[in-house]
Amino acid sequence: VQQLLSSLAEIVGEKNVLSGDAVTGRNPGWCRTSLDAGLMVRPASTSEVSRVAAVAHANDLVVVPHGGMTGLVQGTSSQANNLIVSFERMNQVTRVDPAQGVLIAQAGVRLQDAHDAAAEHGLTLGVDIPSRGSCTIGGIISTNAGGVRVIRYGMTRENVLGLDVVLADGTVLEASNTLMKNNAGFDLKQLFIGSEGTLGLVTQAVFKLFPKPVDESTALVAASSVSDLVKLLTRVRREMGSKLLSFEGMWHDYYWGVTEHATTGNRPIAEEYPIYAIIEAGEWTDSRETQLEQVLSAALEDGLILDAVLASSLAERRAIWLIREDTDPVSQLTDRMLSFDVGFELRDIEPFVEGLSRAMSQRWPDKPLYVFGHMGDGNLHIILGLSNEEYANQKPFTDVIYGEVGRYANSTISAEHGIGLEKRAYLHYSRSEEQRLLMQRLMLALDPTSMLNPGKIV
Ligand SMILES: Cc1cc2nc3c(=O)[nH]c(=O)nc-3n(C[C@H](O)[C@H](O)[C@H](O)COP(=O)(O)OP(=O)(O)OC[C@H]3O[C@@H](n4cnc5c(N)ncnc54)[C@H](O)[C@@H]3O)c2cc1C
Repeated sequence: VQQLLSSLAEIVGEKNVLSGDAVTGRNPGWCRTSLDAGLMVRPASTSEVSRVAAVAHANDLVVVPHGGMTGLVQGTSSQANNLIVSFERMNQVTRVDPAQGVLIAQAGVRLQDAHDAAAEHGLTLGVDIPSRGSCTIGGIISTNAGGVRVIRYGMTRENVLGLDVVLADGTVLEASNTLMKNNAGFDLKQLFIGSEGTLGLVTQAVFKLFPKPVDESTALVAASSVSDLVKLLTRVRREMGSKLLSFEGMWHDYYWGVTEHATTGNRPIAEEYPIYAIIEAGEWTDSRETQLEQVLSAALEDGLILDAVLASSLAERRAIWLIREDTDPVSQLTDRMLSFDVGFELRDIEPFVEGLSRAMSQRWPDKPLYVFGHMGDGNLHIILGLSNEEYANQKPFTDVIYGEVGRYANSTISAEHGIGLEKRAYLHYSRSEEQRLLMQRLMLALDPTSMLNPGKIV
C-alpha cells in the first residue's frame, strides 16, 4: 500500500492523495456510498490522469470518477480498496473562441462557470440543468445530461464537438476536435458520452456555443389537461420556431406542494388547476411586446390555457423557475425520496400519469405522488416520499411505476439521469438483451479487466 501511495503522490503531489477521514469526512453528494473507498487522488491535467490510471491498472485498483457529485443514480458509489479520481482541480476553461463558436474546458469546470465564461462573449452553452452550480463538464458528458434547454439545443451529446479521454490502462485519446464537420472515421467521442465513467475518464471537452438571447421571457401558465398543454406546445413551436427555449410541466400536487413552502414564496398563479407549465422563449433583438405574450394571449382567448402570468423582472423569472427547480419542499416531507426519470412520446404522457395515479392510489391510497419535469421533451420526473422502512424495501413501489412505464412501446426508465447502480436492475425495461450484451462487450473491449467504475449500468 505504501508503495502505491508514493507512486500516486509522485504524480499528483502528496497533498492531492487523500485517505481516511480526509476522504470519508467530505460531502458524499447525492450518493451516500460515494466515499466508501476512503482513497482519493486529485490530478490536475490529462497527463496526470493518464499516469494515475496506469498505476491503478498495474495494481488492479478499481477507479471511480467523481465530478460534482450531483448524479442521481448512485454512479459515484465506491467500495473499500477502490481509488476515487476527483476532477476538482481540473477547473480551467482553456479557450473561448467566439469566431469558431467553441468553448474548451477541463472536466472539473462547473457548468455555471462555463456558462459565465461564454456569457462574457455574449454566448451561451446549449446545456443547462438545475444543478449547474455544482455539476461538472465531465459529469454532464458522462451522464449525457439533459436539462431545461433540450427542446432547443438537444442533449449534451448534440452539444459536444470533441473530447480528451483517458482509457483504463492510461492510454490518452486526445480528440479535442473543434470542427463543425469531421467525418474521418468513427466519431469515437460518442462512445464516452453517456457511458457514466465505465469506458474512459473524460479530461477535457469542446462545447458548441450559441448566441445568447438579449432577453428571455418566462411565463407560468395553467391548463385543464396535458393534452391542452401539448396542443399549446405545438402552437408555440409553429409560431415561434427556435425561439422556444423551455417547456416544463408541473402537475397540481407538485405545484401546490412546492409553493406551500417559504423558500418558493408566493404562488404566481394562486388558483388550483390540474396542471401548470413554465414556458421560456428567447429574443435576439430588442422588442417591446414579446412574441410569447402574443401567443399566450391568443391561447387564453381560445381557452387552451386557463391562466397565465408573464414575468416582468428577473426576480419574477427566478421566482417562477424556483418552483420547478427547488424540489426540497416536497422531497423533505418524508424520510427518504424515491425519484424516477421516465420518458414517453407526448401523446402517452396523459394516459401514463392517469394510469399511474390509479395504480398507486389502489395500493397506497395516502401516498403523495409528485409529477413534474421536462414535459416538452416527454421527460417526467416523479417523486415518491417514503419512510426509511419503505425505502429499504422499495421494490413494490418501483415495480408498480416501471410496470406502468412498460405499457408504452416508446418509453424509457431513464430519460436523462442514466442508470448507475440504482436503475441497473431495471435496464431490461428499456434495452433488449442484445443491446445489454453489446454494452458489456464494449466495456470489455475498452477495459478488459473491468477497472473503470465496474458494476454501473450493466
Ligand atoms: C437539483 C438537481 C437537478 C438536476 N437536474 C438534472 C437535469 O435537469 N437533467 C439531467 O440530465 N440531470 C440532472 N441532474 C443530475 C445531475 O446533475 C447530472 O447527472 C450531472 O450531469 C452530474 O454531473 P456531476 O459533475 O455532478 O457528476 P457526478 O455526480 O460526480 O458523476 C456522475 C457520473 O459520471 C461519472 N463521471 C463524473 N466525472 C467524470 C469524468 N470526468 N470522466 C468519466 N466519468 C465521470 C461518475 O463516475 C458518475 O457515474 C440533477 C441533479 C440535481 C441534484
